[in-house]
Amino acid sequence: MAKQPQKRTKHIPQRTCIGCQTVLPKKALIRIVRSEAGVRVDLTGKAPGRGAYIHGVRSCWEKALKGPVARALRVELSNEDRQLLHEFSQTLPDEDAAGSLPETHSVADGKNNEELSMNL
Ligand SMILES: [Zn+2]
Repeated sequence: MAKQPQKRTKHIPQRTCIGCQTVLPKKALIRIVRSEAGVRVDLTGKAPGRGAYIHGVRSCWEKALKGPVARALRVELSNEDRQLLHEFSQTLPDEDAAGSLPETHSVADGKNNEELSMNL
């Protein structure tokens, strides 16, 4: 297959949030993946393995952790998995920032820009 740089597709892949069942463009959701090491958050969206998608909001993760994650990934969550996902969810905002989703989702959100603290 030839490489096609900057290919613009009209088709936008859609995925369902397993927490609230809302269908959204894939980029607006966070992927989790079932790996050999357990269930992990896949911020690249490219990790091999069975994946599922969840909103970047805490409430959806909490809902998802109660069952849908295990169902979607067809795996039983270990305590460690559960803990890991729970901890990740704590870094997310409580609710969706409605209507202000950036075009490209930034993985490292919340990082302050280097401020001009070098007066002089
Ligand atoms: Zn959701």
